[in-house]
Amino acid sequence: MNQLIRCKNCDEIFMKTPFDHCPVYMFDPERSLENSRSIETDDYQDFLTHHQGHQLEDLKIIEDSFVSEKAYSEPVKASFFKATNGKEKFVIKKFREKIDESLRYQLIPGDYSLKCTDIEIQAEEISKQLKKELNPPLSQNKIDAFLKLYRAIAEDVDIKDLERIPEESQYPLEIYYKLDDIRLMYLLRNCRNIFKGQEYSAMEEFIHRHKDDGVLLLKATYKIRLTEIAKPRKKAIPASFASKKDKIAARK
Ligand SMILES: [Zn+2]
Repeated sequence: MNQLIRCKNCDEIFMKTPFDHCPVYMFDPERSLENSRSIETDDYQDFLTHHQGHQLEDLKIIEDSFVSEKAYSEPVKASFFKATNGKEKFVIKKFREKIDESLRYQLIPGDYSLKCTDIEIQAEEISKQLKKELNPPLSQNKIDAFLKLYRAIAEDVDIKDLERIPEESQYPLEIYYKLDDIRLMYLLRNCRNIFKGQEYSAMEEFIHRHKDDGVLLLKATYKIRLTEIAKPRKKAIPASFASKKDKIAARK
């Protein structure tokens, strides 16, 4: 189990992990787990020594709060998650600036929310599949008419009404959604204005075949909106800490 520890005096964070996340272990398979564990333990000892006599507390990570602007697999990035001590909530920035650096954690006073900035259809993928699967082939005009119709539906959608398909995306802020039954019916009904007879039947089959498999999923793009606040401190600030903070503030 990971243990997230906060020093209440310094507002510093340490993540204690049973498995080492440090690059020495990740990029050097020759090194035994034993060795990398001892590195981790040393880091933890350093943290304890540095914060000797300070008040430490455990924080609990709030599930599903993880967000990042880069791919899950990208090692050099900043991501954010939320944690709580049971009374207060905290935003924690987890980041690494270079590939050979250990992950660092920083407590940010404030909060963040996700804002959906765009909902798109996968036009390229739809065209490609239509051309591949429909025989006799559709005219380009009809493909365009279908894309126009589907785009109009996507533009009108409230993302909160749709079912999320989590495993489709490599990017935490690109989320795929499945069209609900009501909008699916609407799409089919409007297809009748574009396609007739055999062509309509082929389109109906196409829509049913691809509504869940990625081609017809809607892609929503989110942005992280970080709201940093200057946190008023309830307790008296130790003199050394206050002066250090003031100096930092004065430099900005
Ligand atoms: Zn401390």
